[in-house]
Amino acid sequence: MQTKGSGFSRRSLLKGVGSLGLAAASPKVFAAAAAAAGAPSAPSPDPLPPAVVPTVTSFALGDVDLLDGPFLKARALDQQYLLSLEPDRMLHSFRVNAGLPPKAEIYGGWESVSTWADIHCQGHTLGHYLSACALMYGATQDARFKERTDYIVADLRDCQTASKTGLLTAFPEGNGLMDTMLSGKRFSGVPWYTTHKVLAGLRDAKLYTDSPVALEVLTKFCDWAVTATAPLTDEQFQKMLDAEHGGMNEVLADTYAMTGDARYLALSRRFCHQSVLDPLSRLRDHLDGLHSNTQIPKVIGFNRLYQLTGQKNYLIASAFFWKTVANTRSFVIGNHGDGEHFFPVAEFSEHVFSAKASETCCEYNMLKLTRMLFELDPSAAYADFYERALYNDILASQDPDTGMVTYFQGNRPGYMKLYCTPVDSFWCCTGSGMENHAKYNDSIYFKDDRSIYVNLFIPSVVRLQPGVSLTQTTQFPEVPTTKLQWKTDRPVEVTMQLRHPHWCKTAKVRINGKVVLESRQPSSYIELKREWHSGDVVELEMPMKLRAVPLPGDDRIVAFMYGPVVLAGALGNEGIAAPRADLTVNERLIGTVLNTPFTAPTLTGDADTLVAQAKASGSPLTFSIPASGTATSVKLMPYYKIAHERYATYWKIAPEPDLPTTT
Ligand SMILES: [Zn+2]
Repeated sequence: MQTKGSGFSRRSLLKGVGSLGLAAASPKVFAAAAAAAGAPSAPSPDPLPPAVVPTVTSFALGDVDLLDGPFLKARALDQQYLLSLEPDRMLHSFRVNAGLPPKAEIYGGWESVSTWADIHCQGHTLGHYLSACALMYGATQDARFKERTDYIVADLRDCQTASKTGLLTAFPEGNGLMDTMLSGKRFSGVPWYTTHKVLAGLRDAKLYTDSPVALEVLTKFCDWAVTATAPLTDEQFQKMLDAEHGGMNEVLADTYAMTGDARYLALSRRFCHQSVLDPLSRLRDHLDGLHSNTQIPKVIGFNRLYQLTGQKNYLIASAFFWKTVANTRSFVIGNHGDGEHFFPVAEFSEHVFSAKASETCCEYNMLKLTRMLFELDPSAAYADFYERALYNDILASQDPDTGMVTYFQGNRPGYMKLYCTPVDSFWCCTGSGMENHAKYNDSIYFKDDRSIYVNLFIPSVVRLQPGVSLTQTTQFPEVPTTKLQWKTDRPVEVTMQLRHPHWCKTAKVRINGKVVLESRQPSSYIELKREWHSGDVVELEMPMKLRAVPLPGDDRIVAFMYGPVVLAGALGNEGIAAPRADLTVNERLIGTVLNTPFTAPTLTGDADTLVAQAKASGSPLTFSIPASGTATSVKLMPYYKIAHERYATYWKIAPEPDLPTTT
């Protein structure tokens, strides 16, 4: 199929990430969903093209249990943080704006402090918090998170009842800020971005805690948005979308899917920023200079709209965006950007050593997009990227002691990770960070009607059907193997699709101790189709090697990886004050708070020779490589484990000095 005007077919677009193999479903799905949800009768939808059924789906959060390992530990820290926060403090301004007395003092940081007043993110934390508690309940069934979700949802309903508008807002100007924006006057900050977070929190409360009240509050809020934006011409609407507006198109599309109300679908389409959708649908990468985290949520919305409408331009735009960002614009940890913006690919070497690279929110959104694309097209390339970003960015973003999270993850040699404070920061990345560590059991396994996909090697149990489960035990990535054991009350025929990762040349599979096959196709799935009996054990062996990964466009600048893990140079804590000095209130100071001069050791010669000279140390995933300058060797260790210490992820390799000439 030729895409109009592009000269590219859909197949050539997706070359390298596999074929789509999409099945069409009846639009009756929506009517049925609406009836099931007891949705009020809505204006009849325009005739829609058939919607798209994903090729594979993830398991429900509650069907996968995490077992002991770094991800379970990270989730436990997140739980502690979520339980330490007080919902009444996050609800403070929502109540004030609705004319209700607040029950507790407002939180600091982006929520109330004048330094950040103009960005208009007040209230975004409540939305992320609601999503995080709902996800945490879905993942753990821990009633404390359901109680918090229910409490917040009930309070938001009280606000809606009192204000009589449907709009829920925590802006200091009350509803006035939205009025100003909708009337086309000048406004500051990102009101729709913040609004999206609250809507997404309500959606997640419905999805993961099955709260009917959340759906009621969500639909009233969406009704307000439908009415409030109705007078805008398309031109006025698009002008409004020049400001960051989060995933408004996504959450409205989701609400349409949950209710069948076509008004939400129509509004979701209006929230599609044409100046981004158009070039991407024509396979044009126009991203240089654009604010990264403004774009990714729009693209997630495009993908969602493709799923709900079958309209191909949404798929083409979202798959092309992923491909260009993941494959050509990303650093070794899987994130991208400098100072929150995309830069020209030819300028990697000018941006790589910035302390303000890789905003963590961007990865939160890239993983969402990756997961959606994988469900449509279960290609190992998506799962490979997910793994890289999960270990080297998301897991790496959390302080293993306090549970606080990063904003940027810079590559300036000798810089260190800086984390938010518990109650005085409330950055965007604090909010998305609350969610990141709540959903680690989300994308380990996927399924279709006859297969299970094992995408990640994380200790866990997955329940496939009543009486049928699979337990994965592993110390991966510290040990390059994983073991999957069946427990069934009857023999079951299931095809196992084991990911053979891109970083491993030859993977070996054993069943009940016997080697059954060797795969020599990195970035593919190893298919095991047979009848499984209780106690059957499948082992996957994936040998890892240390390797140098050159920076795109400059092979003198390299990072080091071992299997899926980025190894950073651990450079000590010279000049760094007492513990917790790396918790910082103000994200704007990142890049300047560690301005004392620091000279990292030098790596000299040739990257492959350095790799050959590296010596494994006593600890797993830890090596020593020869250096010069300020040290004779550098300790390389997993970047995700680095905390409270200076580090280097990228190295500019110095040329070998000229040998003295002999006479
Ligand atoms: Zn952020």
